[in-house]
Amino acid sequence: MRNFENVDGQMLIGGVRASEIVRKYGSPVYVTDEDAVRSNFRAIFNAFDRRMPTRINYACKANTNLAILRILEQEGSCIDAVSIGEVEACLRAGFSPDRIMYTGVNVSTPELKAVAALRVPINIDSFSELERLAMIDPGLPISIRVNPEVGAGHHEKVVTGARSTKFGVPRDRIVAAYAEALQLGFRPKGIHCHIGAGVQVVEPFVQATEVLVSIVQELEKELGLRLEFIDIGGGIGIPYRPEDHAMDLDLLAEGITSLIKNGTSVRRVVLEPGRYIVADTTVLLTTVVDVKETPDKKFAGVDAGMNTLVRPAFYGSYHHVAVANKLGMPPEATYDIVGPICESGDHLAKDRALPRVEEGDVICVYDAGAYGFSMASNYNMRPLPREVLVHKGTMNLVRESETIGDLLRYQRIPSRLML
Ligand code: PLP
Repeated sequence: MRNFENVDGQMLIGGVRASEIVRKYGSPVYVTDEDAVRSNFRAIFNAFDRRMPTRINYACKANTNLAILRILEQEGSCIDAVSIGEVEACLRAGFSPDRIMYTGVNVSTPELKAVAALRVPINIDSFSELERLAMIDPGLPISIRVNPEVGAGHHEKVVTGARSTKFGVPRDRIVAAYAEALQLGFRPKGIHCHIGAGVQVVEPFVQATEVLVSIVQELEKELGLRLEFIDIGGGIGIPYRPEDHAMDLDLLAEGITSLIKNGTSVRRVVLEPGRYIVADTTVLLTTVVDVKETPDKKFAGVDAGMNTLVRPAFYGSYHHVAVANKLGMPPEATYDIVGPICESGDHLAKDRALPRVEEGDVICVYDAGAYGFSMASNYNMRPLPREVLVHKGTMNLVRESETIGDLLRYQRIPSRLML
């Protein structure tokens, strides 16, 4: 959670008043502060790179806005992409193919061919994928994703490293997978795992690194294979609630890198943070359109809903909220912030003590930069909102909003139904 500047009760984001952004670009709108993206990237890169050579593969599933990708390209980031669409977006933003790693799950052969044709290194998820890629291009750089049997995360839906999940090659088959890769003509470069998302503590990352280190040792001993990198995945949590603690990056970096340096000859550590880099760089601004009191509750109805930011409805996630045009004013009542979608699960925040909320007020939903826009939908036929980049007092529109015409464009009514 960032602290925003408060001038006479008005929230400033990157030097611009929130109410001014809404006046200019409409509501709802996602707003990203460029400096925050740069400083988050530098914080995590430096914490690791001062200990051993480091590559950050920004997990762009968190946010694929092209302007954000450009900023990270300029910072020297690399990319973790999970679909051909993400690969194409990153190429468009200026990343060269060798700075992208494709980590798919249940990858179709057409998608595998498309990624291989772009010369993007592939992180293999299964024996089937390995064998199908061998028929396409065994010269492509690959790594293999292991299921480390260490899982963690803010919600059961985002725990990926547990034994029971669909991800990666099982721990007890991983040496066989590398043996088969060598036999098929590949020269594997690294090993990868990803334990889950929104992990607030260091221990699971250390446990997963221990698993990777022991596999690297087995690969050297049994296959004579020396890997260039260990990729510990992403999943570093952020403090969404005021009482949450930020991850101690030094402790995390020391725990991971010391195991790799002491236990292997691997020279590079790779991380795939998504949330850590972008979550707190972006807010969702939404306008109060209706205030309703029922016998049990006060509802502040806003023009953004689970279609705009699904995390609260989908995971029960907490996002801090404030009234951006009444910042710092004392709370007067407790509100649920609810949207225009026809589901009772459509809420952005529950039971929040806020200053008196009135129609026309602008609600700021914090920490919306990761899995906010990228998980937004057109549910209830609602167009996706605008995205704006702010930088030291300037504003740029970095995504136009959709129109209802855009939503109808791809539908077809068979002519026999028009009679
Ligand atoms: N890497 C992989 C393989 C993932 O599946 C994910 C998230 O699902 C990430 C990295 C990024 O996770 P986070 O945004 O929590 O850092």
